[in-house]
Amino acid sequence: MGDYILAIDQGTTSSRAIVFDKKGSIVSVGQKEHEQIFPRPGWVEHDAVEIWRNVQEVIGLALSRADLTRHHIEAVGITNQRETAVVWDRRTGEPVYHAIVWQDTRTQAIVDRLAGDEGVDRYASIVGLPLATYFAGTKIAWILDNVDGARERAEAGDLLFGTTDTWVLWNLTGGTDGGVHVTDVTNASRTLFMDLETLEWRDDILADFGVPRSMMPEIRSSSEVYGYAEDSSLLRETPIAGILGDQQAATFGQAAFAKGESKNTYGTGNFLIFNTGDEIVRSENGLLTTVGYKLGDQPAQYALEGSIAVTGSLIQWLRDQLGIISSAPEVEELARGTEDNGGVYFVPAFSGLYAPYWRPDARGAIVGLTRYANKHHIARAALEAVAFQTRDVLDAVNADAGVELSELRVDGGMVANDTLMQFQADVIGVPVVRPVVAETTALGAAYAAGLAVGFWSSLEEVQDNWQEDSRWEPAMAEDERERQVRLWRKAVTKSMDWVDDDVK
Ligand code: ADP
Repeated sequence: MGDYILAIDQGTTSSRAIVFDKKGSIVSVGQKEHEQIFPRPGWVEHDAVEIWRNVQEVIGLALSRADLTRHHIEAVGITNQRETAVVWDRRTGEPVYHAIVWQDTRTQAIVDRLAGDEGVDRYASIVGLPLATYFAGTKIAWILDNVDGARERAEAGDLLFGTTDTWVLWNLTGGTDGGVHVTDVTNASRTLFMDLETLEWRDDILADFGVPRSMMPEIRSSSEVYGYAEDSSLLRETPIAGILGDQQAATFGQAAFAKGESKNTYGTGNFLIFNTGDEIVRSENGLLTTVGYKLGDQPAQYALEGSIAVTGSLIQWLRDQLGIISSAPEVEELARGTEDNGGVYFVPAFSGLYAPYWRPDARGAIVGLTRYANKHHIARAALEAVAFQTRDVLDAVNADAGVELSELRVDGGMVANDTLMQFQADVIGVPVVRPVVAETTALGAAYAAGLAVGFWSSLEEVQDNWQEDSRWEPAMAEDERERQVRLWRKAVTKSMDWVDDDVK
């Protein structure tokens, strides 16, 4: 029996392979960024072929850095950027178009057409989601509508759809030679096509979108053996035994298994997930209803989610588009050049506003500018925007759940930022807690795979691995907190109502 589990984390900015031991500690990591392709304003693409190449490379890196071979690996788990849509030819294995990334807003016209008179909540009682450009379904429809010959090929049964979990699994298990075409319930719950109760595709919704069912992967649990790595792979014959969308994986990696538990991940975007157990809770405050996880034959566990499109990517924007920092961590130093935001608020509505506002007509705005404002204020306002957006989502969770969260478990790339974490505790008024293993996304996928093959025996065993690393206590006076939140919300109103017919 192998001593380790390997997790593949196919993220928005990079792909990682991480080897974990039985304690849930990291043994080795391979990581590689892929190109972010921005062909037009609002469009975001990835090259799925590059992603698959990187995944293979990082698996090799992770194994070789720890001097391991496939014989040491008991099982493989996959976690992935959710909603990003890949459509490829089942006979050649070639994508018919770049992957359309979750942040991409090109499908607004499709959303508007489908919403028609019934509005964006047309399918919400079935799928838990409003119609929005964010979800994979609209992206598949766009590819079929816009790529030459795609619709005919799809209708002939030649094309397959997958989010990147499915794309990686299909390739890893043989691709054109017997690749397994499967996704898990958490990824399926982000397409707009899965019925939350039956956990099956809805033929009526697929028909409304014009998507042939033959393209869709089979929906399976998050923890079971889907197949084995093919012969030419470094992982030959190793079972692939866990799939969780990245946010659900992070929740799993934080051991937030029980109803009422939650986590907030600070990555490219921010995602707060609140576990509602086996109950499907419909939000009245702008949150999504989604599947949290499903272990083999056991009942699905559901969650409420607050998705924020732009948080870490705002820091990337400061680096790449504005050039006021040369690496993401530098934002902290720049922000510390001033004691406060100098009255500047930055609403990063680059893809409109997601939870809890859901305003596709919003666009980014920096408000409160005076001659006094400088790059330090902009950097601080950018960090604060991450915390304020989380506060908005947390208020929605508290309202939907009817109980106040007593602390916030956090993870993701941005939680290395102490200034941000302190400000976060200040504006929500409850402690912020970071675990020792901040790579909760990959860890969650490893847990799902390890539980399926008996590497870990129970959720309790996994829970015992969770350990607190740091804690930030709120230190801001209540009246200052409320003043800040009031000004932030005023700034949010200034970002709205920007997109007209002739403004994209
Ligand atoms: P993802 O999984 O979505 O690719 P990660 O969890 O790896 O994202 O987080 C990376 C994001 O965190 C990037 O958008 C980057 O700009 C941001 N980031 C990384 N380090 C810092 C830091 N010290 N301060 C602020 N932001 C950071």
